[in-house]
Amino acid sequence: MIIIMKDNASAKEIVAVEKVLEEYGFKTHPIEGEKKTIIGAIGDKRQLSMNQILLMSGVENVVPIMKPYKLASKELQKEQSVIDVGYGVTVGGNKLAVFAGPCAIESQEQFTTVSRSVKEAGANILRGGAFKPRSSPYSFQGLEGEGLEIMYNSGKELGMPICTEVVDTRDVDLVAKYADIMQIGARNMQNFKLLREVGKTNKPILLKRGLASTMEEWLMAAEYIMSEGNENVILCERGIRTYETATRNTFDLSAIPVSKELSHLPIIADPSHATGSYKYVAPIAKGAIAAGADGLMIEVHNCPEKAASDGPQSLKPEKFNTLMKELDLIAKAVGRELL
Ligand code: PEP
Ligand code: MN
Repeated sequence: MIIIMKDNASAKEIVAVEKVLEEYGFKTHPIEGEKKTIIGAIGDKRQLSMNQILLMSGVENVVPIMKPYKLASKELQKEQSVIDVGYGVTVGGNKLAVFAGPCAIESQEQFTTVSRSVKEAGANILRGGAFKPRSSPYSFQGLEGEGLEIMYNSGKELGMPICTEVVDTRDVDLVAKYADIMQIGARNMQNFKLLREVGKTNKPILLKRGLASTMEEWLMAAEYIMSEGNENVILCERGIRTYETATRNTFDLSAIPVSKELSHLPIIADPSHATGSYKYVAPIAKGAIAAGADGLMIEVHNCPEKAASDGPQSLKPEKFNTLMKELDLIAKAVGRELL
């Protein structure tokens, strides 16, 4: 980081700043200008609060050089992470990962029907909610443990990894027993206790972007998980809250190239939650793949009009099948593989 001293900073003040920095293990390099002195400080600033320096006498500003997230950053790891999610499926490699399934697991019959159809269409990971984080406490909250079993059975039957959300620290062990990938939902992106808990497991984590979070807040959330030892984090752009109400959220296409620049973690796109309408899922899915996403998460339901949750944004199996064929062309055009 760089410490910019005030124009009238005294030699005593400059030495005092250097002394504190050195106490924290920094190497300091003061550069004396005609009017100002700036101090270059090289070291690990995790133990030091920037305010500690900023509030010292004679200091004008402190400018960090390195990103506040370390393990998630490209500064420490240049090559793209490829995450093994089981059953021979990876996320982040040349082959695109397609997570598909209903919003919520409603019954074995429903989940089996949808899972078989999405597999047939070329999806490689099953998704479904057993614990549902609903905006209303009166809405369907999920089948919980029974839902996990239903999902597990389908994953085994079809030889596909399963991804499901965990919403509470008390459920992490249970969900980890069944799931191949644990999902942290948008509403929990900054639930730091939950992030730390899933960070202690060895399961890949799908980390959705928070409802109105910045890229930095999102990558700091990934850092929470990774700092506990679990570096298998997959980012998922699912739209953010803006002033626009025509769609459920606003899909941030830029998040894909920006995350590729800042982080080595794979990123997938969820056009279902981003738009809230089945009509917009296909164009956004295509745009995301064209922009370099490593995969997609798409809600599919055999009977969307009867779905317990998110029916309006769910694709029918036939529509999903058509979309996969169209996406295959786009994947090829950007040098990726889909089907
Ligand atoms: C979901 O994937 O079903 C879900 C609730 O998503 P989000 O956390 O992005 O709203
Ligand atoms: Mn949903």
